[in-house]
Amino acid sequence: MKQFVYEIKIESTQLRLKTEEELRDQTEKLKKRSQKEELSKIIPQWFALVQEISNRKLGLKHFDTQLLAGVHLHQGKIVEMKTGEGKTLASTLPVSLNALLKKGVHVVTVNDYLAERDQKWMGKIYTELGLSVGLVKSTSSVIEKKKSYFSDITYVTNSEVVFDYLRDSSASHLTEVVQRPFSFCVIDEIDSILIDEARTPLILSTVSKNLNKNKLFLAKFIANWLEKDVHFQVDEKRRDINLTESGYKKAKEKLGKNTLYDSNDPWILEILNALKAQYIFKLNKDYIVLNNKILIVDEFTGRIMEDRRWSLGIHEAIEAKENVLIGGGTKTKSSITYQNFFTLYPKLAGMTGTGKTAEKEFQDIYKLEVVVLPTAKPMIRKDFSDLVYQTELAKWKAVLNKTKECFSKGQPILIGTASVEKSEFLSELFKISKIPHQILNAKPENVARESEIVAQAGERYAVTIATNMAGRGTDIILGGNTSFKVKQKLREILIENKNNEISLKKEEEHLLKKIFTEYETREQLELDLSNLPYSLETCQESLRLFYNSLYEEISKSWIKENSEVKSLGGLFVLGTERHETRRIDNQLRGRAGRQGDPGNSQFYVSLEDELMKIFGGENIRRWVEYLVQDKDIPLESNLLTSSLENAQKKVENYNYDLRKNVFQYDEILNVQRKELFQARNEILRDEISEDFFFRYCESFLDEQILSFIKKTSNNYFFKLQSELQKWFDSYSIDQLKTESKETPKNLYSELWISNDLRFAQSNLYQQGFLQSNRSILYLLIIDIYWTEHLERMTYIRETINWRAYGQQNPLMEYNVEAFQSFKLMFDQIRSAMIYYFLNNPLNY
Ligand code: ADP
Ligand code: MG
Repeated sequence: MKQFVYEIKIESTQLRLKTEEELRDQTEKLKKRSQKEELSKIIPQWFALVQEISNRKLGLKHFDTQLLAGVHLHQGKIVEMKTGEGKTLASTLPVSLNALLKKGVHVVTVNDYLAERDQKWMGKIYTELGLSVGLVKSTSSVIEKKKSYFSDITYVTNSEVVFDYLRDSSASHLTEVVQRPFSFCVIDEIDSILIDEARTPLILSTVSKNLNKNKLFLAKFIANWLEKDVHFQVDEKRRDINLTESGYKKAKEKLGKNTLYDSNDPWILEILNALKAQYIFKLNKDYIVLNNKILIVDEFTGRIMEDRRWSLGIHEAIEAKENVLIGGGTKTKSSITYQNFFTLYPKLAGMTGTGKTAEKEFQDIYKLEVVVLPTAKPMIRKDFSDLVYQTELAKWKAVLNKTKECFSKGQPILIGTASVEKSEFLSELFKISKIPHQILNAKPENVARESEIVAQAGERYAVTIATNMAGRGTDIILGGNTSFKVKQKLREILIENKNNEISLKKEEEHLLKKIFTEYETREQLELDLSNLPYSLETCQESLRLFYNSLYEEISKSWIKENSEVKSLGGLFVLGTERHETRRIDNQLRGRAGRQGDPGNSQFYVSLEDELMKIFGGENIRRWVEYLVQDKDIPLESNLLTSSLENAQKKVENYNYDLRKNVFQYDEILNVQRKELFQARNEILRDEISEDFFFRYCESFLDEQILSFIKKTSNNYFFKLQSELQKWFDSYSIDQLKTESKETPKNLYSELWISNDLRFAQSNLYQQGFLQSNRSILYLLIIDIYWTEHLERMTYIRETINWRAYGQQNPLMEYNVEAFQSFKLMFDQIRSAMIYYFLNNPLNY
C-alpha cells in the first residue's frame, strides 16, 4: 500500500505543473484507457488526477489515508474513518473512477441535506472531470429523478433510492420508471442504514378497500381482557409476546371459535398484534400521534420516520389502540428491507466512523470486509470511564452540575440523550437553571437547521442537547463554523432585516444595495443563500463579494476563538445513557476530538436506566448499592464500565440475531421478488411476445387437463373451470386421455381461435385496443396476486412458530409454505390471464 501511495505522489508532482488544458487531456486519455483496461490498472493515475483537480477546485488535497480509503472502497469494502477525517472527499476517488464505466454510481447518504451538500460540494470535482452528477430528492419530479439516475453519479438518500426502486417495480408504464440497472453504490454512514434501520422494512402501500376494522377492534377488546403473565408473556428483550395455553383458550372462548388458526378466518395475528400494541409499543417513545396518524419515531435518532409503517399488521393494531384512522386505508403493495435492497448492487462499499464493532454482521450478512484506517493526526480525546449513580434523579443532578461547570468556564458541552422525551426534559431543567442552550429538533424539515446548530456546538459557551445521532454527518469545529456563521449573518441582514443591529463597512453597504437590485426575486435570493457556500460560483457577484467580505472578518476572530476553546480542553461530550450498542456510544464520543483536536467524553448512567434494568443483571446493582451508601455519590471504575459494555454486547447479540432472523426469513421472499420484478420488467419493456402468451396458456391447459383427468377438484379455478367445462364437454374422456399424453392439439387450436376472435371483437370497439393495452392488463393481474401473496406470507411468517410447534426448523417450514404460496400466485396469474383474455371479452 505504501508503494501505491508513492506511485500517486510521483504522478502528482507531474500533474502539479500542468495547465488546466493539459489536465483535461490527461482526463481524456485515462477515460479512453478505462474502456479497454481494468479500472484497477489506472488507479494511481486517476487518483492523482482527482487529487490535483480537487486541490485546484476546492482547495482540498486528499490525504494519504483518503487515498488508501479510496482503494478499499473501490474494492467493495467498508472503510472506518473517524468523524471529521474527510470521508466525503475520500469517496470522490472510487466514485469518479467507477463512473467511467458509464453504468451509474450511486452515493447514498442519510438525509436530503447531506445528499445536496455533498452533490454540490463534490460536484465541482466531477464536473471538471467531465462526469455528470445528479441529485435525487424526495421532492423531485419523475423527470428530474430520471435525469439524475441517468447521470454518471447520483447522490440520493437511503430511503428515496429504495422507494424509487419499489415504485419502479410497480410501474404500469415504462415512462414511469426512473432507475436503471444497478452497478456500484457507496453508502455513507453505512452502519446507520444497514444495521440500525435493518429491522423495519420499507413498505410501498396501496389503497385497500377491504381492511377488516371490526376485527382489529375486537382483537383490541380481547387483548384488554387478557391478563399479563396469566394469559400471555411479554419478552421485553425480544420485544415479543406469546400466548400461554390458558390465554389461547380464553381468546378462543371469547371469540366463540374452535381455533385461532382457521385459515378462512385466522385470528392469532390480530390478537398478538393487539397485545404488542398494548404492551410493547409505547406512545411518545416508539411512535407519536400526529394529525390522526401514527408516526414511527426512529429509536436511534429520535427522528420521525414519515412514510414508514410497521409491517405484519402491527401498525394497524397501534392505530386501533390509539383510535386513529386505520391503515390510512392502505395495504402493502410491495416491500423490501435495506438488507435485501442493497445486496442488489453488484458492487457495494461503505463508509462510517463506527463499523468495527459490527464487523461480524457486515461480514456474515453482506460479505463486506471492514477496514479501519488510522486518523491523519493522532487522536488525543480522553474518554473517561462511566459515572454510575444509584438513581436517575442523582444522575440528572450530576448532569446539571457538570453542564454548569463547563458553561461557567466557557467550555462547549454536547449532551447526548437517548430519546426526544429526555432531551426535552433536560431542556426544561436548563431553562429553570438559566443555562442558555440549543436543543436539536427531530423533525425531518429541520435537518438543515440541525446541521447548523451542530456545526456551532464547538463555540465558547455553547450548550447543546442532541438526541443521539441528530445532525449526523456534520463535524463540530472548535470555535464555531465560519461558513455557517457567515450564512447566518447574511440571513439576518438580507431576510430578517436586522441591519440596524449589525454594523457594516462602507463597501458592504454598497454591496447590500447591489444585491437587492441584482436579484429580481426574493425566492432566487433565498435559494442561493440556502445553498451557500456551494452556490458561490453560480450566485450573483454582489452576493459572492458580500459573502467573502464577511467571511474574512469572521475567520479572523475564529482563529482566536479556536485557540481559546482548545485551551479550555475542547468539546466535552456527555452521554446521559448508554445505548443498546457500543457503536452509537462511539458515534457520540466521536463528536469530540476531531482532526487531532483536544476533547473529552464521559457517560453518566444510573441503575434505573433502561439498559441496566433489562440487561445489567442483579450483580451490578448489588455491587453498587453495597459500595455506595450516599445516593448522590457516583461510582467510577473501569471494572464497572466493562461490565456495562458486557451488557451492551449482550444486547448487540440479541439484536443481531433478530436482524439475522429478519434477513433469513426475507431471503425467500427476496428471491421471489427478484423473479417477479424481472418478469414485470420484461412485460414493461414489451419483451413479452405473442408466443409467451400462448406458451403460458398452453401449459395452463395441460395442467388443467391433467387435473381434470385425475378428477381432483381445485377451488381456485372454479370460475375458469366452468368455462373450460364447456370445451371439455365436446370431448370424451377417452379422447382427452389419449390426446393429453401427446399434445392436445385440438384444444390448443381452440385456444388460438379464441384469441383471434377476442382480438377481432375488441377491434370492433376500438382498433388496436388489445395490442396496446395487453401489457397493462398483464401487470394489473400480476400486481393483484402479488399483493395477495404478500398478505399470505405475512400470515405465514407471523404464525409459523406456532404452527410448526414441535418441528425442528420453522424456517424450513416457512420456506416450504412460501414456495407453495408463490406457486399458487403464479397459477392464479395464469388462470386470470386466460380468463380475461379469452373468456370475458367485453367485461372491462
Ligand atoms: P467525515 O464524513 O469523515 O466525518 P467530512 O467529510 O465531513 O468528514 O469532512 C470533515 C472536514 O474535513 C470538512 O470540513 C472538510 O473540509 C475537511 N477535509 C476533508 N478532507 C480534507 C483534506 N484532504 N484537506 C483538508 N481538509 C479536509
Ligand atoms: Mg460524513
